[in-house]
Amino acid sequence: MTIKVHNTLAREKQDFEPIDPKNVRMYVCGPTVYDLAHVGNARPVVVFDTFARLLRYVYGAEHVTYVRNITDVEDKIIEASLKSGEPIESITKRTTQAYHDDMAALGALPPDIEPRATDHIQEMIDMSAKLIEKGHAYEAEGHVLFSVKSMADYGELSGRNREDMIAGARVEVAPYKKDPADFVLWKPSNDEQPGWESPWGKGRPGWHIECSAMSRVHLGETFDVHGGGLDLTFPHHENEIAQSKCCNEKPYVNYWMHNGYVVVNGEKMSKSLGNFFTVRQLLDEGLNGEALRLTLLSGHYRQPLDITREKVAEFKVQLDRFYGALQAVEKIEASTEEASDAF
Ligand SMILES: [Zn+2]
Repeated sequence: MTIKVHNTLAREKQDFEPIDPKNVRMYVCGPTVYDLAHVGNARPVVVFDTFARLLRYVYGAEHVTYVRNITDVEDKIIEASLKSGEPIESITKRTTQAYHDDMAALGALPPDIEPRATDHIQEMIDMSAKLIEKGHAYEAEGHVLFSVKSMADYGELSGRNREDMIAGARVEVAPYKKDPADFVLWKPSNDEQPGWESPWGKGRPGWHIECSAMSRVHLGETFDVHGGGLDLTFPHHENEIAQSKCCNEKPYVNYWMHNGYVVVNGEKMSKSLGNFFTVRQLLDEGLNGEALRLTLLSGHYRQPLDITREKVAEFKVQLDRFYGALQAVEKIEASTEEASDAF
């Protein structure tokens, strides 16, 4: 059986050919643990859980490694702690547990490996140092920045070049940057912020380097599939490619897969727009987790998907019908067995 996947990098559907069929490797960006997951956050979990099951079915479970990380150091977590007064460790621990519970309620199996960013700080420092050594990054005022200009083929995934980035004002302008498009690998921490000792002083990693480092530790320098939501294509995945390719001097990922947005009345569900409902909220209201999973899988995974409570309730009816049919089959099978036993 050949799996065909749409590869964002190639912009077309391709036959999936793993580097080693005895060791098929997939990395998916996991949550930043500062708040409960909303239904939009749950879509990649369900989509890539389904894809991981397909890979296990085709290649054998023992030949597939699925890694999904936990981002437990990021500025959103620090902001949440400052706002509520709850210590960072308590926020990340509580939110990780809630995430595990909610995703289990959606029938998503845990990944094979679930690395935490804070357990891989040394690898992030090592990669940043190597990028400086190779002339792809530089230190400035306690920061380490990736030099976008140093990479000739930057933008291969999203099709955006350095000029587009600046024109779109998607970059943070800061006096210590040599070029507005450069992005942070490492940044300084004050006494209130979580920080680790590094060659550039006490600081913490940027978000993009976290995934480059964790995927390298657990899957190697080149692996088969990298997945995530469509919104991660740029800048997050583009920057992961830049870091990993320039550091390792090897191809990073062969197949990039992105799921479409969950939308509410045509608009992307997001925390910033405030048009979201959390998985926990729906479960607490009595909606069924498996029905929500079926709703999340009801459209093509790359297309936008409108989710309403009514839709989830409708899928619950459909699910009941499926189970009803299954029960009927079991009964028939049981009675046929009985009948054949009688002879
Ligand atoms: Zn990532």
